[in-house]
Amino acid sequence: MTNEDMQNGFDYDVVVVGGGPAGSTAATLLAQHGHKILLLERDKHPRFHIGESMLPFSEPVIQRLGIDWSEGNQFKSGAVFIDENTDQRMYFPLSVYRKTYQLERGPFDQRLFENAAKHGVETRQEEKVLEVDCRAEGVDIVSDKGRYRCRYLVDASGRSALMGKSDRSIARIENLGKFAVYTHYENIQPSEEADALFESGSIYVPVVDIGWIWIIPLSGRRLSVGLVVQKERPKDCEVEELLWRYLADSPILNRLLDGAKQFAPVRVEADFSYSNQRRHGLRYACCGDAAGFLDPVFSSGVFLAFTSAARVADRIHQGFLEGREADPELHAVDDDDYMLGFNTMRMFVERFYQSNIVHNLFFEADRDPELKDQIARLLSGDLWVDNNALQKSLLAGRHMSG
Ligand SMILES: Cc1cc2nc3c(=O)[nH]c(=O)nc-3n(C[C@H](O)[C@H](O)[C@H](O)COP(=O)(O)OP(=O)(O)OC[C@H]3O[C@@H](n4cnc5c(N)ncnc54)[C@H](O)[C@@H]3O)c2cc1C
Repeated sequence: MTNEDMQNGFDYDVVVVGGGPAGSTAATLLAQHGHKILLLERDKHPRFHIGESMLPFSEPVIQRLGIDWSEGNQFKSGAVFIDENTDQRMYFPLSVYRKTYQLERGPFDQRLFENAAKHGVETRQEEKVLEVDCRAEGVDIVSDKGRYRCRYLVDASGRSALMGKSDRSIARIENLGKFAVYTHYENIQPSEEADALFESGSIYVPVVDIGWIWIIPLSGRRLSVGLVVQKERPKDCEVEELLWRYLADSPILNRLLDGAKQFAPVRVEADFSYSNQRRHGLRYACCGDAAGFLDPVFSSGVFLAFTSAARVADRIHQGFLEGREADPELHAVDDDDYMLGFNTMRMFVERFYQSNIVHNLFFEADRDPELKDQIARLLSGDLWVDNNALQKSLLAGRHMSG
């Protein structure tokens, strides 16, 4: 910060709200650019978070953060979509040019948060931001422990969507998954099915009549297992019972879970898929889930969090250099570009639910190597390109606002 900034009463260049992947990334990169950053997290790390399957195109951001995400984590070679009724399986290799992993979010998010501190970010946990006021002269922030004044705000508050909720700019994306119910198992016994799963480290996605199931192998022969429901819940069935019903009906899970031990509670997440219509404005920008959240069928959440946070951080730095920090359109060009990737994923997820994509496209891809490659590139997060015919057709399929 300059002397002039101090005279303006700024405590920090940037305050980042939320110490998940998006917030820790934005804070670290801004600190690497030489700015004075405060990162506020309302919980205490390691805190539980769902979202364990990563995409390889996160790797460039991971490298900038200077961490080794292979450490202690299960290698993920690809994604397997399955119809258990016909016993059809389609494998898409994902860790081809770049590698990726299945990881437990508690320790991983803690590492990202601590990594921010190592890069000079001032980090505080168990401090919740209550209010922000973004004006032309600066940003005022009130938390449950203090007040701060800064030049810029990054909202990385996840699905709490601090700015989106106060601006009433959250637009639901209808007709995707409605809720998820999930749990975790350990002590997965050796078997042909289990050994193949842990060797490849792939995510298995069996499609079922009311949605889809995730089976994610984690290090230490543990499994994350969840059901995402698109339809209304059957009236005669509690959410937890629904999970047991679908796990019991799955031959693959019967084989995998034989002799295994459930070690985590059953958890439920609702409030799926939305886009924040005002992702940036006067002296603020949103990233990660605070900018938008998609049904997790293609495991895109953390990848989008890394990608959007890196863009926001680099643009704020550029804005400071150019004296454009009070320009409400500072992020407009980046945001348009980012939404190309977000909307590709959105259309892909919409197709998954609306056109029986697994049968009509994924299983067909076995006979069409070009199509298989196009799908694998989307599933890897290779979204900012202009040579993927499938991506072009997805984006041409429907005009989408913000
Ligand atoms: C059922 C389900 C399955 C998923 N599966 C996957 C998957 O397999 N792969 C994948 O990549 N993604 C998955 N996701 C999505 C993924 O978890 C998110 O996209 C990702 O965590 C986004 O990171 P973030 O940093 O934006 O938000 P978060 O990780 O949610 O971090 C936000 C942080 O902000 C803090 N916070 C919120 N409000 C405040 C406040 N007012 N003051 C201070 N701190 C605050 C929160 O405590 C939190 O730590 C899944 C999501 C769900 C719901």
